[in-house]
Amino acid sequence: MTKPHIETIPILPLGMLNSFLIVHGDDAILVDTGLPGSEAKIFKTLKKHGLSWLNVKLTILTHAHIDHAGSAFGIKALTAAPICAHVLEVPYCSGQPPKLAATGPFGRTFQKTGAIERPFPYFKPDEIMTAGEMGLEDRGFPLKIIHTPGHTPGSVSVLLENGRVIAGDLAASGVLLGGILMRSKPKRPPFEEDQLAVATSLELLLQRGCKTFYLGHGGPLSADRIKEHVSALRRVQV
Ligand SMILES: [Zn+2]
Ligand SMILES: [Zn+2]
Repeated sequence: MTKPHIETIPILPLGMLNSFLIVHGDDAILVDTGLPGSEAKIFKTLKKHGLSWLNVKLTILTHAHIDHAGSAFGIKALTAAPICAHVLEVPYCSGQPPKLAATGPFGRTFQKTGAIERPFPYFKPDEIMTAGEMGLEDRGFPLKIIHTPGHTPGSVSVLLENGRVIAGDLAASGVLLGGILMRSKPKRPPFEEDQLAVATSLELLLQRGCKTFYLGHGGPLSADRIKEHVSALRRVQV
């Protein structure tokens, strides 16, 4: 059987905000759902692969910020697929305001707009991950979900063959929110709850052989760029 393909879903243009579709034969897994109202953009990507909502077997949330979980409720109704999130992310899925530790001036300005704290249709995940790692091989998908805390306490990454990983907001690249320009240049996302935990999680992914890091904002980044970023995170503590 062919290896699963990772298709980037442009929720915002220029790599500013990405969700991902993992396509494996006639089955697909959606990783992150984008801002509220992203259903049409996700459907366009499904159609590109000759798929429909019912081909989506699972939705995985890397974390529950509005730009990743905002359409989860709507997608659930369309796909009937369960939503999987880590147990430590459940409070954010049900409306607890996120802790926003801005990583720089853009994050601070962005925070003032209130956009990231806007309410969105809340939900209870159907599959709540409590272990450090969860394999989906028994469901026909050669991939693993790994708990990689730091950006938020319940952030997870999705590891696939050939060193590919969807790492959510563990890192970003580009300018401002991410994407746009200089996309091979790593940067911190606008917010990060625990900088050193982010560094440790990225190191874990490097140790697991990750070579290509697909990101929510900007990316993808190579392992070398991630190593540079980890060094920067360990050097500059805020
Ligand atoms: Zn985030
Ligand atoms: Zn994000």
